[in-house]
Amino acid sequence: AYNFSAGPAALPEPVLRQAQQEMLEWRAAGASIVELSHRGPEFMAVAAEAEADLRRLVGVPDDYAVLFVGGGATTQQALIALNFAAAGQPADYVVTGHWGRTALRQAAPYVDLRIAASGEAEGFRDVPARADWRLSEDAAYVHITANETIHGVEFREAPDVGEVPLFADFSSSIASEPLDIARYGVVYAGAQKNLGPVGIGVVIVRRELLERAGQPRADIFDYRLQLAADSMLNTPPSWNWYMLGLTVKWMLAEGGVEEFALRSAAKSELLYREIDGSSGFYRNDVAAAARSRMNVPFFLHDAALDAPFLAAAREAGLIGLKGHRVLGGMRASIYNAMPVEGVRALTDFMQEFRRRHG
Ligand code: PLP
Repeated sequence: AYNFSAGPAALPEPVLRQAQQEMLEWRAAGASIVELSHRGPEFMAVAAEAEADLRRLVGVPDDYAVLFVGGGATTQQALIALNFAAAGQPADYVVTGHWGRTALRQAAPYVDLRIAASGEAEGFRDVPARADWRLSEDAAYVHITANETIHGVEFREAPDVGEVPLFADFSSSIASEPLDIARYGVVYAGAQKNLGPVGIGVVIVRRELLERAGQPRADIFDYRLQLAADSMLNTPPSWNWYMLGLTVKWMLAEGGVEEFALRSAAKSELLYREIDGSSGFYRNDVAAAARSRMNVPFFLHDAALDAPFLAAAREAGLIGLKGHRVLGGMRASIYNAMPVEGVRALTDFMQEFRRRHG
């Protein structure tokens, strides 16, 4: 089956096969990688290799640190405020969907929240024009959601926000195209879309920002201390870290982010062409220039067809297409592990379904 789930998302089959082999015994170590000490030579090597590979894949410059963190992306949405904003300091948020709204809720107890721009009044169908953003000069950072997983709205380039560092949630689009990390102060992502299974996340941070005092916080919430401890202040999610390493290696072997940018463009164009060419049978409401290449929400012209569509899709081996409860309808998530053949199977199915029910 082709799995269009938004996350936890499909993993590349070669990664799952390799993990299956190595799970019983890690390279004659006498135990599985998940049974070995995180401070032992075997796991330390896995962790270091995952970081080196991720740096190469995403193109992380030396003046940026990479942290491997538990707690997922939502936890980082709170920790960025604690680590980089003084208590009550303004922080600017540009809200382009559900996850941008979540991000500002996590930071709310710690900063003077400023909504610099929001697409909410228009139903999150576009990225608000940069000229209309109201940025605060004394903001600790400007936060954006690079790709809105539910609303299907994506920034196609890093906005210019001047001297204030730009922080971005790349949970659902990291490693899908070349990224100029130098444009950002912080890039963070949960792993469970493009980077591996759920349970670990990455925070890529410009090292000089770690000198900020931030706010009083427990050691375990302190990025600087995590970095000093090689992201092992406590027991790290070692299986997830190992799986992330395998997934990153697979992406490098497939041709890296340049290759995935081509595949993502091809896959998303196929799908949007089918939707736009369906004479209103299917509909996507996002402005063309802001349409996500990773998550394509769409609606059938008659919601009574939703259940038959999902049932027939499942029958055809196309799973995970039910839209998020916030939006309803359908959503096809087409992350790096989704081959173009999967999207072709979906568009063929959509055409056939339209013929039968149009
Ligand atoms: N940000 C984005 C863009 C997401 O898509 C998600 C989850 O789907 C999150 C944040 C929340 O991530 P987590 O569940 O890892 O906290």
